[in-house]
This record gives sequence, structure tokens and C-alpha cells, in this order.
Amino acid sequence: MRIAICPGSFDPVTRGHLNIIERSAQRFDRVIVLVMVNPAKTPCFTAEERADFLRRVTAHIPNVRVDVSTGLLAEYARAAGASTIIKGLRAVTDFEFEFQQALTNKKLNPELETMFVITDPEYMYLSSSVVRQVAGFGGDVTDFLPEEICEDVVRHLAQKRAVE
Ligand code: ADP
Repeated sequence: MRIAICPGSFDPVTRGHLNIIERSAQRFDRVIVLVMVNPAKTPCFTAEERADFLRRVTAHIPNVRVDVSTGLLAEYARAAGASTIIKGLRAVTDFEFEFQQALTNKKLNPELETMFVITDPEYMYLSSSVVRQVAGFGGDVTDFLPEEICEDVVRHLAQKRAVE
């Protein structure tokens, strides 16, 4: 079975992420969307909230499952029997960082291949931080977020802002 992992922060998942996940699921037997817990980052949503959003927006894709990892991606992949990591690329600015990550993961787990999927042009500009920023100013983010979670994400962000 060919298993791929789509790792990321997904803080929160956007339509750009979902596009990459859907395209990956067409090409692999199983796709694990992995919420990575990075101690260096302070996310807006907890790992469980992020995983819950992902489960809701991928419920229509039978070969996708969502998980959370607090460890090393290379180790997770080994344990899960995954041979491929899939990363989305928006622009050359993504490339240098992704290149470094891919080489590091290859060093840690030589069986592991990283493959890059080029974003659909309509999502080129889209990132989780854009969503947080626009929603933070009360802007309309319906075009940025999957329909199933839009209302909840906006409400969560408004609540979090109110307590800050
Ligand atoms: P970000 O915070 O920049 O959205 P994540 O860590 O959540 O990044 O992203 C996980 C993966 O999804 C990364 O490979 C990232 O390059 C990719 N990605 C994020 N946004 C998009 C998009 N709009 N189109 C394609 N790939 C994307």
C-alpha cells in the first residue's frame, strides 16, 4: 500500500491545503494528514482543534485520515509505513525552507521521499496566516476556508481575540 503524509501546522486548514490533500488522495492508497506540534511556534488553535477542523473538511475523502504528532516527522513516517511526504509549493519563497526540510528528513530516514505539489494558481496567495490576519480585522474569509468550518473558525478567532 502506498501511504503518503501531508504534514503541516494547519492553523487553520485552508482551501489551499485541502486542494493539495484532495490531489494527493487521488494518487496514493492512503493519505495521512498530520498536524505537527512545533514547540517553537505558538499556534492560534490547539492541535486537537486543528485536527478536528481537518477531519470535518476531509470527511468526504475515504482514504484520508488525520493524526497529530508531537515528534519527528521522519520517525512518524517510519512507524506508519509511509514512504512519501507531500508538500505544497506556492512560490519560490517556499522552496528554500522546504528544500532544507526535505534533505533533513531524507538524512533521518533514507527511505522517505519528499514530493512537491504545485498549488493551483487560485490559492497561490493563501496561507493560514492570511486567514488569521484578515479574520482578525473582521474581513470576509469565506473564499479562503472550506465551507464546513468557516463559521466555527471565524467564531473561534473572534473569541480568542476577545480574551487577548
Ligand atoms: P502555512 O501556515 O504556510 O499555511 P502549513 O505548515 O500549514 O503552512 O502548510 C502545510 C503544507 O501546505 C506546506 O507544504 C505548505 O507549503 C502547504 N500549503 C499551505 N498553503 C498552501 C496553498 N495555498 N497552496 C498550496 N500549498 C499550500
